[in-house]
Amino acid sequence: MSAQKTRVFSGVQPTGNLHLGNYLGALTRFVALQENFDCIYCVVDMHAITVWQEPTELARNTREVTAAFLACGIDPEKHIVFNQSQVVQHAELAWIFNCVARMGWLNRMTQFKEKAGKHRENASVGLFAYPSLMAADILAYRATHVPVGEDQKQHLELSRDIAQKFNTDFADSVAAHGFSQPFFPLPEPLIQGPATRVMSLRDGTKKMSKSDPSDYSRINLTDDADTVALKIRKAKTDPEPLPNEEAGLAARPEADNLVGIFAALADTDKPAVLRQFGGGPFSAFKQALADLAVDRLGRVGAEMSRLVKDPAHIDLILKEGAEKAASIAEPVLRDVKKVVGFVQSRFE
Ligand code: ATP
Ligand code: MG
Repeated sequence: MSAQKTRVFSGVQPTGNLHLGNYLGALTRFVALQENFDCIYCVVDMHAITVWQEPTELARNTREVTAAFLACGIDPEKHIVFNQSQVVQHAELAWIFNCVARMGWLNRMTQFKEKAGKHRENASVGLFAYPSLMAADILAYRATHVPVGEDQKQHLELSRDIAQKFNTDFADSVAAHGFSQPFFPLPEPLIQGPATRVMSLRDGTKKMSKSDPSDYSRINLTDDADTVALKIRKAKTDPEPLPNEEAGLAARPEADNLVGIFAALADTDKPAVLRQFGGGPFSAFKQALADLAVDRLGRVGAEMSRLVKDPAHIDLILKEGAEKAASIAEPVLRDVKKVVGFVQSRFE
């Protein structure tokens, strides 16, 4: 095994409409990282089914997220784009990691608590074990850097804990097989960019999510100009005018969120936005924000709808990506199985 090479991995769930939060917190980061790193971008369909997905919708959403990757500028020739379920090593490594991770660690995960809600006994076992699969996604490629939104920080920390515990528990076996240490890198979260946590348009204390039942909570990449304008017009605000200084946004989560979105889309910062709109009413600001959002997202949405009209082309990209991904993950899993002590006589 050679020294750990820098490699980027990240995933997006095909759970519904991709939104502005996914775009600013994840997709634009994915695109930027292609410049300097080898990148693997995955449509994580196995994560999606931790909550119920209608099968035909799941397939449609998988192709739509792939289209969004391409429309934003991810290059499937130079990098790797595929869907998770086509590479069996994710599931294999996830099982091993289920046996490394501790119940106590997973019990602390806020995403599980939020998504399971009050009906925890009714949540799927998969929803609870989600972070083990996420660790497997990353470590099956020995990825070192993971661009994500702020909401995934806790899961990334858990991935590091799993990698660390595996490295420690199996240190003697790793040495006995002559593999170099540490066996797995400890993956670093890359939580960067101007909008690592975009909030819901209906509630400035909740993150914008694909799975929020209210479509008015988010701006989807596929929304047309009128819908974007309507959603921004209806976005929750407070009765005060916009402040002139950033400090005036404290304790005003909805105003803070809209100003943050404007700044991210305009490649500027909140003080600059407030210099332009501070003291004025929300109505003028919202109109300018709608125009800006349509300008930035319209091209992506149009390219996505063009791409989804040719599912065969998307499926071919996913197939080729899965083959490239498997060629990295297969040898890693072969070594993992040796380290764990699984007899693999079929392959010897
Ligand atoms: P779901 O509600 O089904 O979990 P989601 O909107 O959280 O959907 P994911 O597929 O879970 O989307 O996440 C894809 C990527 O987008 C992750 O890197 C995640 O951190 C990022 N992301 C999700 N929501 C936001 C947000 N509101 N702001 C910034 N980044 C976000
Ligand atoms: Mg999510």
